[in-house]
Amino acid sequence: MKHWQTVLKKSITEPEHLFAHFGISPEDAERVTNIYPMRINPYYLSLIKHPGDALWRQAVPDALELDDTVCMKDPLNEENLSPVPNLVHKYPDRALFLVHNQCAVYCRFCTRKRKIGTKEMHISIKTINSGLNYLRQTTAIKDVLVSGGDPLLLDDNRLDYILSSLRAIKHVEIIRIGSRVPCTLPMRVTKKLAATIKRYHPVYINTHFNHPDEITPEAATACSRLADAGIPLGSQTVLLKGINDETEIIKQLMYKLLRIRVKPYYLFQTDMTQGTNHFRTPIEKGIEIMQSLIGHISGMAVPTFAVDAPGGGGKIPLLPNYVEQLGSQLVFQNYCGLICTYDNPCD
Ligand SMILES: *Cc1c(COP(=O)(O)O)cnc(C)c1O
Ligand code: SF4
Repeated sequence: MKHWQTVLKKSITEPEHLFAHFGISPEDAERVTNIYPMRINPYYLSLIKHPGDALWRQAVPDALELDDTVCMKDPLNEENLSPVPNLVHKYPDRALFLVHNQCAVYCRFCTRKRKIGTKEMHISIKTINSGLNYLRQTTAIKDVLVSGGDPLLLDDNRLDYILSSLRAIKHVEIIRIGSRVPCTLPMRVTKKLAATIKRYHPVYINTHFNHPDEITPEAATACSRLADAGIPLGSQTVLLKGINDETEIIKQLMYKLLRIRVKPYYLFQTDMTQGTNHFRTPIEKGIEIMQSLIGHISGMAVPTFAVDAPGGGGKIPLLPNYVEQLGSQLVFQNYCGLICTYDNPCD
């Protein structure tokens, strides 16, 4: 067994073990884990400083998950947008291909909470092959997002099979991998893994960091291995109440991401996923945070704040309002409130 597999195997999955570790009663957590699984691997566990902190909240089951009467099982309507199981085709030119049902940590706020880590999500070589067939037949698809669950928890051979099959499809120009492993299980990013992915360029990886405390020397090593293999790295951060919904935290996180060669890509408004209502912030909070980033910090560190429209409408960017139109004149406010104008050309 490889080192990362041993680490994963030692994960806490039963409430009594977790609470043995932190000295709290397991009853509530058990009600939750009967429905939504828990997995906290020893690496991520070691980053939790005390119960209730930002990493704890991301990973430890909370009874509030069961009290959600507002949100939906499948808010992005993914199941209805799947021509074959575990392949979501929403935008004409790109597809989301789910190739694994497990993750290194089960994030409590996960959009696919309805199925990740449960029997509801059935993935086999058969479903992977039917996804590949759909991709081969659908020539409009130029960009495939390999996701899950976490595709980088597959063993190297299975991953190699998926990537080489995708690369053999002529119309698939871009391959993207969505993985939280650089953050939650960085030892998975072996030299061999980086070398495997490198064979199928252009491959992009979007990872997922939510808090500056997740940016450790181990995460930095994982990211530089990938970046050194020529893989551009992005982060899809989720704005989460009680975890990172403060300007200073997001600012620090974005800078720290750039330092480990990860370009902030999206900052997501939390989806309306059943069991995650307690993590949602008002949209205005995200816009306020964006206003304090744009122009105030390196443009390289500024993500796009977006809401993924409930019902499957896709991602919609949200910006502070900087512009007002007065006839042919546009009146702008710059990042520190200064008013400027720009005259549109006359016909
Ligand atoms: C997010 C997403 C994509 C990719 O969107 P980008 O804005 O190109 O990153 C593609 N398909 C589905 C179903 C998605 O949810
Ligand atoms: S790593 Fe991603 S897919 Fe897995 S539980 Fe976390 S948010 Fe969900």
